[in-house]
Amino acid sequence: MTSEGADAAGTGRFTLDTRLSGALGGRTAQAVERAFGYRTVGDLLGHYPRRYALRGELTALASLPLDENVTIVAEVLEVRVREMRQRRGSILEAKISDGTGILTLTFFNQKWRENDLRPGRRGIFAGKVGDYRGARQLAHPDYELFDDSAPIAADAAAAKRWAEAPIPIYPATGTLASWQLAKAIALLLDGLGDLDDPVPDAVRQARSLLDQRRALEAIHRPEAEADWKSARRTLRFTEAFVLQAALLLRRAELRAHTTTARHPSVGGLLERFDASLHFSLTADQQEVGAEIADDLEHPVPMNRLVQGEVGSGKTVVALRAMLAVADSGGQSALLAPTEVLAAQHLRSIARLLGPELSASVVPTLLTGQLPAADRRKALLRAAAGQSRIVVGTHALIGDAVSFADLGLVVVDEQHRFGVEQREALRLKGQHPPHVLVLTATPIPRTVAMTVFGDLDVSTIRELPAGRAGIESHVVPLADRPGWRPRVWERLAEEVELGRQGFVVCPAIEARVAEDDGEAPDGEAEADAAVPAASVASVLAELEEHPRFTDKRVAPLHGRMSADEKEATMRAFAAGEIDVLVATTVIEVGVDVPNASAMVVVDADRFGVSQLHQLRGRVGRGSVPGLCLLVTSAEAGSLARQRVEAVAATLDGFELARVDLELRQEGDVLGAVQSGGRSSLKLLRVARDGDVIADAREVAAEVLAADPGLGRHAALAAEVRRRLDAEASGYLSKG
Ligand code: ADP
Ligand code: MG
Repeated sequence: MTSEGADAAGTGRFTLDTRLSGALGGRTAQAVERAFGYRTVGDLLGHYPRRYALRGELTALASLPLDENVTIVAEVLEVRVREMRQRRGSILEAKISDGTGILTLTFFNQKWRENDLRPGRRGIFAGKVGDYRGARQLAHPDYELFDDSAPIAADAAAAKRWAEAPIPIYPATGTLASWQLAKAIALLLDGLGDLDDPVPDAVRQARSLLDQRRALEAIHRPEAEADWKSARRTLRFTEAFVLQAALLLRRAELRAHTTTARHPSVGGLLERFDASLHFSLTADQQEVGAEIADDLEHPVPMNRLVQGEVGSGKTVVALRAMLAVADSGGQSALLAPTEVLAAQHLRSIARLLGPELSASVVPTLLTGQLPAADRRKALLRAAAGQSRIVVGTHALIGDAVSFADLGLVVVDEQHRFGVEQREALRLKGQHPPHVLVLTATPIPRTVAMTVFGDLDVSTIRELPAGRAGIESHVVPLADRPGWRPRVWERLAEEVELGRQGFVVCPAIEARVAEDDGEAPDGEAEADAAVPAASVASVLAELEEHPRFTDKRVAPLHGRMSADEKEATMRAFAAGEIDVLVATTVIEVGVDVPNASAMVVVDADRFGVSQLHQLRGRVGRGSVPGLCLLVTSAEAGSLARQRVEAVAATLDGFELARVDLELRQEGDVLGAVQSGGRSSLKLLRVARDGDVIADAREVAAEVLAADPGLGRHAALAAEVRRRLDAEASGYLSKG
């Protein structure tokens, strides 16, 4: 810490690291920390206005959302005070207007406000929008009236400036109004000492960016629109630059470790495997395979993300890496998000290896739910180095599991696996193992750069030839309520052709949602009052349906025990079940080539990438897939557009792009962007790809010339602040 709060207050000089308690006084500092988690001057100065209002502009009152906290600019129309009839006391009612709509403010026993709220005065009003007998009102709002003493006739220029000065509107809470934040921030700006700029001068000048100090001043206290606009541009670049520098530094730190280089051996397991494959690798598989092989041959821990469509053959690529490690005497751990998937991985690996190679590699399942004796055996095989490939869930990272020589960790589906877990694993071997992360969630380049900046990214775009394809249709019940029975008939037809199908529901029972992570957007949330279709309700519906009386239908969801789920999946894979009615537990990795039909009910309750993943469960073999996305969302609604986007293309990367476009800014990365100390502030990955790419290039240059940032103290300090704030949450999204 460079300065103590008390000293700073004494000298009137704050740094970005000064505690708010020393700069603002305890009560305000506490309120700010409670509301936003901010502790330092830098934290609060990073609380940028959400938008700017003008004194001359009035907020449209007609469209105010009920039950939400709003901050609006309006003019007082009239004020009335009346005595209450039932009990003692008075009610003051003020009507404010934007020129068309009217909103009533009510205050109890605060007659004196009559002096304030005089007709014709304008100001900012904040409060929760309520409804009283059909009229919109704010009960006990906070407000701040604009200064009446505007410099009028005497100084025309000053009057114009006053009228045009944008008023910052901050993200506020019920206890901290926008103007209270503005006042606190003004105090900080007044007391702020000189700032060193994290962005090097030359970089700034080449992009016509403001210096840090002026940018902070201009974003919080702009005199004109142009001020906050150039401030935003500056601070957006700075944010991207600091973030990229932080990610690149972390990556460099990871690379500073050494580990064992792994070479496949001549005539070894990998060669034998390649020779035994009954298909040839796609060009993408070969290319990504070569990238991985190259990483493994260096004594620097690999940290690579492989992204590729469902069914693009990532497992084969990962298996080849594991065999290269086995050739050099090392072991690999493959981590799956669930026990079902771990068991399935083990089966497909054993199948791909064939009996002979399996005997050398001894692929072993090691999960928490194994019977004690099996588990002991598996633990021994891992510890003795006999098993070259150990498959399990994240529990593999548990203390009880040790490896003879852990050379590679493969993580299937990165989004359930955080940085801390990667760290824990890294500590398991004598040397940190190489890490390979597989994901079927297509990640646009900008997101990959923003969130996974410390990972190298490989992409498999091409699907193996011979796929029969998937036909996708939206079933729009809002327009065609009669189509629902036809969905079940179509499903029955598939089964009667000897194929199998899935019906995926957002919930297990009428009220029990099963959501693993990807929240639908606000619009879908809004009709949460209508119960979602559930596994239970669909099962009941199919039971009644004449075409299903002779069909074998079974549930699969997260409330079943691991054994039950496993048994159900086995039965389905063996063709003993025709239709699985499931929640998204089947989202990832389930591989049954005979499954041809995927029906998603209430499809609008799922995210775009989730729907795409679900669809990937069918059409995996030579049987053509059919995907029916059933939705009650209205035509034209955002929810409906998302479902239509999924039906319109099979290209996951295109879908990821559309998804970014359709989403409201802010929820692309979920919590990452939703506010709080560690989130992105001005940067939006959907929009700012160019800025991020530019910033990354500059950050890389700076770090190449000055790896320890010894000559870039201000940048080093910003990076440290960023990493401190993120230590808990943000980066572990990776
Ligand atoms: P992913 O893990 O990316 O979803 P998998 O590795 O499970 O995909 O592959 C899906 C199916 O395609 C598997 O049955 C696999 O054996 C097969 N497969 C993988 N690569 C090829 C290829 N190059 N040619 C033909 N089939 C392939
Ligand atoms: Mg897979």
